[in-house]
Amino acid sequence: MYIVPEKEIAALMSREAAFDAVEKVFAAMARKDAYNFPVVREGIGHEDALYGFKGGFDRAGLTLGLKAGGYWPHNLERRQLINHQSTVFLFDPDSGRMHAMVGGNLLTALRTAAASAVSIRHLARQDAKVLGMVGAGHQATFQMRAALEQRDFDKVIGWNMHPDMLENLAKVATEVGIPFERVDLPGMVQADVIISITSSFDAIFGSEHVSDGTHIACMGTDTKGKQEVATDLISRAMLFTDEVAQSISIGECQHAIAANQIAESDITQVGAVINGDHPGRQNDSDVTLFDGTGVGLQDLAVAASVVDLAIQQGIAIEVDF
Ligand code: NAD
Repeated sequence: MYIVPEKEIAALMSREAAFDAVEKVFAAMARKDAYNFPVVREGIGHEDALYGFKGGFDRAGLTLGLKAGGYWPHNLERRQLINHQSTVFLFDPDSGRMHAMVGGNLLTALRTAAASAVSIRHLARQDAKVLGMVGAGHQATFQMRAALEQRDFDKVIGWNMHPDMLENLAKVATEVGIPFERVDLPGMVQADVIISITSSFDAIFGSEHVSDGTHIACMGTDTKGKQEVATDLISRAMLFTDEVAQSISIGECQHAIAANQIAESDITQVGAVINGDHPGRQNDSDVTLFDGTGVGLQDLAVAASVVDLAIQQGIAIEVDF
């Protein structure tokens, strides 16, 4: 088997490669060539951590495996480690033997940013100019960089519950060379695309904060009980997701489903839009919302491409296992 350590990932994986891998696997999921296993995600009653497994099998790409890991909210302050910690395990689908173990931290950020970027490419208005960011933690900077590559944005606006953290976004804006403005939540009505990426358990913004024609990528809600947007916004929007089963159980749509405000059949896999089987946005005034719950197949797709590159470049550590 091969090991690709976390420290090697940055040199191996680009945003473009992550985008391609995630777009392909979303398309394979919608064709039913690839499927995710039920997610296990548990509060372990230690360090307030959420830990779990996301796995699946991509018959088209022959990728089988899982990501184990989760979210340790005190890591940054207590250990100077990022709050997300994960490792991807890939298995040979022919024999079941272990194929590779891959550091999953940077890959998680890249594949999560790629998911919202895929949604923006396929669902946002072509003339989108203002990107709105709700959240300014570790994932938010990756989200922002990937989103900025999808449309000709001329401004980023940002809101965060902890305002000091907005400096993270301002720094990226300076690096990329785009103006950045801090706004209050009502100011989000300026945005043509909004990404929410927080660890909130209560709705932060709702329909009154969103203009007609906006695309929203809700990326923070990946666990039962979490919530970023009010259900009035879910009821108003055309709904898309990575995986419907996750959207209604652990994603942003869980609350509107529980309140009977929407039906499961109102939610479309974004892969169907990628494959041309669903038209996506119908006109410039539609509000589209992508519920990015994060699927195991995304992790496997990016990890598999990293392992191939690491073997080619002689970076992968081979272990007789
Ligand atoms: P982080 O700890 O670095 O940042 C957390 C962010 O949430 C900060 O902006 C913080 O100010 C904000 N926040 C914290 N508590 C809040 C509250 N009660 N209300 C509103 N905002 C609050 O975390 P991160 O690594 O940036 O991850 C953010 C979220 O994204 C987490 O919930 C994580 O589980 C989720 N996530 C989802 C996916 C996916 O595929 N959908 C992948 C990775 C992470």
